Amino acid sequence: MPVREILKQPDDRLRQKADAVLTFGASLEALVEELEETMRAGTGGVGIAAPQIGEKLRLIVVDCRASLRPCKNHGLLYMANPFVDEIDGESLGREGCLSVPDWVGMVPRAKTIRVSFDDLLGNRQQIESTGFEARVIQHEIDHLDGILFTDRVISTKTLVRRL
Ligand code: ZN
Repeated sequence: MPVREILKQPDDRLRQKADAVLTFGASLEALVEELEETMRAGTGGVGIAAPQIGEKLRLIVVDCRASLRPCKNHGLLYMANPFVDEIDGESLGREGCLSVPDWVGMVPRAKTIRVSFDDLLGNRQQIESTGFEARVIQHEIDHLDGILFTDRVISTKTLVRRL
């Protein structure tokens, strides 16, 4: 599976609202594999959303196991049509993005989320996630609505170049 090109800000395709995944099966699995490989090819990629490779679909991949920020996590997650059902608490943390290279900023997010999604077979699942993994899931779901972390930084003063 080839590593795909990651779209970078200010590409307009990053600002579109993505469409629901309606077809499950081999073609979706192939796309998810490409997403995962593209995520792993980037430095420190812990999540990626389909619109970042120009696919206008509500599909994300999250894997926080390799993060330097240890957290309780669910390992590798493939999520189609993810939706945050419940939120609890608040946390402020540093974020970066494969589509906004070289920049990091402080972003407020819900600390704990209950998120439902379709697995690759189209079966609805729900998990509870907290801490860094919950942050990554919220960041990736934002991509499906054309939102970048730079829209959510607590202050543009916290937006700094990555060293
Ligand atoms: Zn991102």
